[in-house]
Amino acid sequence: MHYFNYQGNELYCEDVPVERIAAEVGTPFYLYSASTIVRHYNVFTEAFADVDHLVCYSVKANSNLAVLKMLADLGAGADIVSGGELFRALRAGISPDKIVFSGVGKRDEEIRFALESGILMFNVESTSELSALSRIAKDMGSTAPVALRVNPDVDPETHPYISTGMKENKFGIPVTEALSIYLQAAKMDHIQVVGADCHIGSQLTSSAPFGEAVTKLMELVSDLDREGMEIKYIDVGGGLGIIYGEEAPPLPSDYADTILDAVGGTDKTLIFEPGRVIVGNAGILVTRVIYNKKTAEKNFIIVDAAMNDLIRPSLYDAYQEVRPVFRTEREEIVADVVGPVCESTDYLARDHSMPAVEEGELLAVMSSGAYGFSMSSQYNSRPRAAEIMVRDKRFEVVRNRETFDDLVKGERVFNG
Ligand SMILES: *Cc1c(COP(=O)(O)O)cnc(C)c1O
Repeated sequence: MHYFNYQGNELYCEDVPVERIAAEVGTPFYLYSASTIVRHYNVFTEAFADVDHLVCYSVKANSNLAVLKMLADLGAGADIVSGGELFRALRAGISPDKIVFSGVGKRDEEIRFALESGILMFNVESTSELSALSRIAKDMGSTAPVALRVNPDVDPETHPYISTGMKENKFGIPVTEALSIYLQAAKMDHIQVVGADCHIGSQLTSSAPFGEAVTKLMELVSDLDREGMEIKYIDVGGGLGIIYGEEAPPLPSDYADTILDAVGGTDKTLIFEPGRVIVGNAGILVTRVIYNKKTAEKNFIIVDAAMNDLIRPSLYDAYQEVRPVFRTEREEIVADVVGPVCESTDYLARDHSMPAVEEGELLAVMSSGAYGFSMSSQYNSRPRAAEIMVRDKRFEVVRNRETFDDLVKGERVFNG
């Protein structure tokens, strides 16, 4: 569900024509629908209305301050994976006692920043990290609230690059070792065990792996309860998939049924870390056709957005629909939609069935709200795209397009 629809033959974001924004800000740009974000958040949290829960939005999916502020106002917490994300979350007004810190490689200064800020808990991924937390908390005269991120060894049936809960992945603590490490943690100074956590991957399109993972997590939680540990939070991570093309992911309500079934009734607080499902279909990338180029092999549509703007197609061979902003009757072709970057993997769509397009016309790359701008770079010295937010009839630039000066910010010539 999203608010990018044609009115007549012209694509709109809510009540604003995409073309009007392009005329004002230039291309390429990311375009977000505020009402879509709000709706997705509400549908997700309402699916768990009957249980005590906290939705910690996964900041890495889309970390624009405008997005974070909107979610903060709705009462969301944040799942962060770096000091930079903590900075953003706090800047956007997300309450520190709703922030969980995940990630396999937390550095000392990041841990210190999170302890100073008073976050809800650290999702700990190794014994080395536990020791670091204990050492730093001691140094600060404080105590680190922790959950262990357990790797349940469940196949999420998603792209291997975004699968995180199988035993060959770098993430989490093997479920078989978790109990003994919990027992160690409980005895450590300046560590307070408060939760149990898992996150098995991203873009999951069936519920079964979630059920399997949470069942394993709950077995561990009963062991911990038996050992007298006061587990207050059960964090089941994120990963619920969205529709890019032909997928049929579970609805949030179906996902909730699976999770609640696996949890089987508890007085603990459930924590969720959704990213993609909140923002993925709430954003598009708008780009302009520079050239049509036809070879013996292929139709290439060369556009002004590239892999530096949107890397999902190149990195994960991900499918995202590309459609013209103005819908007219025309011939259907099969084309590669490619950018100007000097890499053969620089494509936004490959062998894509779509209408033939004209040079200069606007295209929309759909479902670009998650892992779009947040994964973008300046590769090929391309200033990063602008980000625009729409609500109803209004639009605002929520991040300026970068300038050439931004490209060299902080650089200087060597005087050695
Ligand atoms: C990336 C990530 C998420 C969010 O995943 P989505 O698929 O976007 O919902 C949640 N938790 C952790 C630990 C992550 O690394």
